[in-house]
Amino acid sequence: MSDLSCVFCKETTNEKVKIFTEGTLKKCKEVAEYRSKKQRVNRKSIYSEIELPRGIDTDIVYYSACYKNFTAVRIPKDSNIYTDFRISGPQQVRPSDFAKELKNIKFKDALVKFIINNWSEQDMAHIIANKIININHDMCYEYSLKDGFSLFS
Ligand SMILES: [Zn+2]
Repeated sequence: MSDLSCVFCKETTNEKVKIFTEGTLKKCKEVAEYRSKKQRVNRKSIYSEIELPRGIDTDIVYYSACYKNFTAVRIPKDSNIYTDFRISGPQQVRPSDFAKELKNIKFKDALVKFIINNWSEQDMAHIIANKIININHDMCYEYSLKDGFSLFS
């Protein structure tokens, strides 16, 4: 275990190192993508040379301090780095952390598109009731009830 070097600082040491998990790797990829976009306008940072592993590998390690430094960047909520989100239908399980997912601009986009399509096909009378619901997304959609059926225009 002596010649493993840290992904971030490339130092080799016998100190305690950590192996990436799915979670930490995903986080690093998001940060790396965000950093690389930012660097087009800002000066190059010491992190521009970092090569993140493509998968989990016990030979690829890091120090927690380096990981903390690397990920210590606030990614704006409207940044485009979040992964695509698809909603296939009403049976799809809600994300476990709904509030967190709502910060993902692509999830919000998918959710609104889902509502627009789904509500025009399904009988949403129980939700719409006596309300008129307007959704504005590229176009303006209006949902209301007429004779107990949902009307969509
Ligand atoms: Zn390091």
